[in-house]
Order: sequence, then structure tokens, then C-alpha cells
Amino acid sequence: MADIQDILTARRRLIARHLPETPMWSYPVLNATVGAEVYVKHENVQPTGAFKVRGGINLLARMDDRSRGVLTYSTGNHAQSIAYAARLYGVPCSIVMPENPNPVKVAALKALGATVEIGGATMVEAAEHARELAGRTGMRLISPGDEPELIMGVATLYFEILTAQPDLDAIFVPVGSGSGAAAACLVSRLLAPACRVIAVQSSAAPAAHDSWRLGELVSRPIKTCVEGLATGCGFELPQSIMRDGLADFVLVTDEEIARAQRTLLEDAHTLAEGAGAAALAGLLARREEFAGRKVAVVCTGGNAGSAELGRVLAA
Ligand SMILES: *Cc1c(COP(=O)(O)O)cnc(C)c1O
Repeated sequence: MADIQDILTARRRLIARHLPETPMWSYPVLNATVGAEVYVKHENVQPTGAFKVRGGINLLARMDDRSRGVLTYSTGNHAQSIAYAARLYGVPCSIVMPENPNPVKVAALKALGATVEIGGATMVEAAEHARELAGRTGMRLISPGDEPELIMGVATLYFEILTAQPDLDAIFVPVGSGSGAAAACLVSRLLAPACRVIAVQSSAAPAAHDSWRLGELVSRPIKTCVEGLATGCGFELPQSIMRDGLADFVLVTDEEIARAQRTLLEDAHTLAEGAGAAALAGLLARREEFAGRKVAVVCTGGNAGSAELGRVLAA
């Protein structure tokens, strides 16, 4: 699907014009806690607080006709990514959410100039409403998972990691739809075939994990409170890339994720949302296997509000 030229083009489009390269640091205290040489890639410092903005900007940049605007359904970081990119390109953006949305997230989207619509009681109904709205208005409906341009944009993140540290033994990547992990597979195949890409998901929402293990797309209930990882079904495009590209797929509990959030706070003075700490939770679950190795964990996002932070610190 991708060659190095596509990734370099996406990188020039994003990095040069809109997003500076994010830092990646190794923290001696964290290394001691894990027992490995750990590199934390800091996507929590993106302007939207999460890595997905790379994909949103790349997708909007590649659209031939943006005049009718863009539309998606999401409660979280995917919505902010698309709204941020739409504002950058000066095009209308609508976000469809299920009933009772988080008011902090609605405020963030409105501040980016997006229109927020309520479309049904569940995310499945919101997705249906979004499809209907796209048909009626001609707005471009952006899937949260099956979009090559989102994956190519996110590939720039793995390009940054593997050009800074080409001899990593492994990269741990948290998975919701699988776009991020698919991008990691594409880039590591091109730049560092010996680097193992290891996906991580919550055992309380294992649709992507189970789809990968079974080799077919399956749906699973969502019982996790970790938002970026709360996906109910496998997505075709990222699963097709992960099928050959992933070395392994680890499940961790929500408690292990909360513990990794505290570790990032204490050992790396980093505020991560649950999904942003899941990669470290996966590495901690496999620490014997990676003892003494050189490993990157992607801190994919930092959008933890005070309610989440209070819960994590109290546990
Ligand atoms: C969306 C998201 C993920 C999962 O990424 P996918 O590309 O959907 O697999 C992980 N972490 C954060 C912070 C996210 O917003």
C-alpha cells in the first residue's frame, strides 16, 4: 500500500507546514521501573492532545474538492482531529455524537468551529445518522477506521520514531480501530524490518484483538472506560495490514492501564489519558520478554480531564 515516497510526502505536508516533530525521551527512572531502555514518544503534546490530528490533516490535504465540507461520528479524539484539520483548511465540519455527550469535548469541538449534532442513543445510531446526513448534504463522511489517508498521515509518527531510533527491538502501539498500529506496521516494514510492532488493547473491549487472532472481522461488547480504545468491531483496512505486519497483540485490563497512567505521571512527568498509557501497560505486562531491550511506547494522547485523573490517582 505505501512506499517511502508516500510517507515522505505526507511528512512534508504535515511536519513542514503544520505540526512540528514531537519529542521522544528516555527517562532513567522509567527505565529502572520497566527494566528496559524505554523511549516515550510524546503525542500528548499535539495541539489536539492526540496523534490522530496527523491523519486528519493528511486526509483534508489530499481531498480534491473540500468545498462541501467534512463529517464524521465520534465522541473523542477522531472528532477533534477532523475538526482541527477542517478549521485549518477553512471548510465546514459536522460531528455527530450519541446522546449525553461529554460537555468538555463538545466545548473543544465548538471552539474549533465544528457543528455538533446529536444522532441517536448509541454510536451505531450516530453512525447511521451521519451516513444519512452525508447523503443529503454531499459532505465527505470520514470513517474512523477505513481511510488510507488517515493511516498515511499517522505513518509520519512512526517515521519520526524509527529515524530517531532505527535499532529498536519493538514498538508498542495502543489499538482502537487499528489505524495507528497499521501505520506502524507499514513504516517498520520499510525502515526497520527487525523491529517488532506489538499492539495493545483493553481486555474489556477486545474487538480488534479478537479480529486479528481469528483472521476475520468480529464485534465485541465495549466494557472498557478507556475511551480511545473503545471500539466495538474490527475494521477491514487496518486489520488487513496488521494481519501480516503485527508481531503480537497484548490484552491488558483497565486497572493495568490506570497503573501505567500513574507510572507515566511519576516516572516521566507525563499526563496521559488511559489510551495514551496503554502501550506502557502492554510493555509492563511483557517485561520479562523485553528485559534489557530497547523499546518505544507511544503515548498517543493526553486528553484526561480532572474526573478521569481523580479516578486514576484514587485507585
Ligand atoms: C484513537 C486513539 C487510539 C487508538 O488508535 P486507532 O488508530 O483507532 O487504533 C489510541 N490512543 C488514543 C489517545 C486515541 O485517541
